[in-house]
Amino acid sequence: MKKRIDFLIVGFGLAGGLLAWELMRRGSSVRVVDRGDLNASQVAAGLINPLTGRRFAKTEGVDRFLPAAKAYYRMLADAFDRPFLIEKPMRRLFRCEMEAVHGRKRLQDHAYRPYIDNMVEMAGGENDGGYLDQKQTGYLLTRPLLACLQEFLQSHQAYFQAALDYREIRLDAEPGWRDFSIRKVIFCEGFHMRDNPWFSWLPLRPAKGEILTFAHRLAMPDRMLNDGHWLIPIGEGRARIGATFDRDNVDTHLTSAARMELAEAGERLFAGLQNAELVAHEAGVRPCTMDRQPFVGSHPRYSYLSIFNGFGAKGSLSIPWHCRRFADYLLTGEALPERCDVKRYEKTHFFG
Ligand SMILES: Cc1cc2nc3c(=O)[nH]c(=O)nc-3n(C[C@H](O)[C@H](O)[C@H](O)COP(=O)(O)OP(=O)(O)OC[C@H]3O[C@@H](n4cnc5c(N)ncnc54)[C@H](O)[C@@H]3O)c2cc1C
Repeated sequence: MKKRIDFLIVGFGLAGGLLAWELMRRGSSVRVVDRGDLNASQVAAGLINPLTGRRFAKTEGVDRFLPAAKAYYRMLADAFDRPFLIEKPMRRLFRCEMEAVHGRKRLQDHAYRPYIDNMVEMAGGENDGGYLDQKQTGYLLTRPLLACLQEFLQSHQAYFQAALDYREIRLDAEPGWRDFSIRKVIFCEGFHMRDNPWFSWLPLRPAKGEILTFAHRLAMPDRMLNDGHWLIPIGEGRARIGATFDRDNVDTHLTSAARMELAEAGERLFAGLQNAELVAHEAGVRPCTMDRQPFVGSHPRYSYLSIFNGFGAKGSLSIPWHCRRFADYLLTGEALPERCDVKRYEKTHFFG
C-alpha cells in the first residue's frame, strides 16, 4: 500500500530546508531527501548585505526581501528558541576615490537612508581610511539553522539521507518515489541541478567560493569589514574571511591560491590576523543564474515536477521571501512573480 504525501523535496540546503518548514507549517505532508554532504548553505557565511558592488547599489528587491528575511528568521528563532540571524553593522572601506564618490551619492539618496549610517571621507590617497558605515547588515547562522530544521524533520520521520536516483521517480498518472505516491516533487539541488534530467535546460551560471575561519586573540571591533573581501567577527575569538569567486573551476576542491588570497585579505582588513590559527578552509558552489533571478516554478510538461533554486550568492536574503511566494503558488494557486518564474525560459526551449 503506497503512502500518499503532498511534497517530496530533493535537497536540504537553505532552499529545501526553509521550503520544507514553510509547507509543513501550512499543514502539508512533506518528505526531504538529501545526500548529506557539506553543501553551499553550510559553507556560506550567510552574509546579509543590502548594498552590493563597488557602487554600493541596492540589491534588487532588497526593500521586500530584507523585512521578509528578518521576520522569517525571527519566527524560526522563536520556534527553536535560539537566534539564527546575527545583526551586525558593516564598514565598507573605500579602495579608491571612485568608491567614495558612489558612497557620497548614496548618502544623499533618500532610498538609501535605511541602509547607510554614516560616511567618512578619504584623506587624499587610495586606501587611506575613508569608509561607508552600513546598517541593516548581519549574517545568518546557517549550520545551526539547518541542524535544527533537520532535527525537526527527523522527529516527523520526514528526512532521508540518500542521493536521489532520478530513475526512481515514477512519472505515471500518479507520480511516486519508493513507496510514496506524491503530489509534487520539488528539486532544491543547488548547483547539482545541472545533472537534473528535467531542469538542466535552465541557464545556471555556478560560481565556486572558498572561505577561511581563523581562531585569534585580537581585539576586533564588533562590526564586519568589507573592502571587496569581507571579514566577519563571529565571536569566541573566531573570524571568517571570504570569499573567492570562481566561475571557471566549478568544484569543491580547496586551493592554495584561494587560501593565499584570503589570508592576504584578512591581514589587510585586520592587522595581525596573519599570525592567527587557521581552523577551517572550506569551499562550495553558489547556484548563480544567467539573469541573476532564481528558478522557481513547474516543469512545462510535467506539472508535478517543480524547482526552487538559483539563489546565487544571496540565498540568506532572498530565500524567505521566495519561499512564501512559492508556497502560495503551490497551495493556493497564486501566480508566481514573473521575474523568478521559470516560464520566462520556456520559449527558448521546445517541449513538444
Ligand atoms: C563560499 C560561499 C560563500 C557564500 N556566502 C554567502 C553569503 O555570505 N550570503 C548568502 O546569502 N549566500 C552566500 N552564499 C550562497 C548560498 O550558499 C546560496 O545562496 C544558498 O545556500 C543556496 O542554497 P541551496 O539550498 O539552493 O543549495 P545548497 O546549499 O547547495 O543545497 C543543495 C542540496 O541539495 C542536495 N542534492 C543535490 N542533488 C541531490 C540529489 N540528487 N539527491 C539528494 N540530494 C541532492 C545537495 O547535496 C545539497 O545538500 C555563499 C556560497 C558559497 C559557496
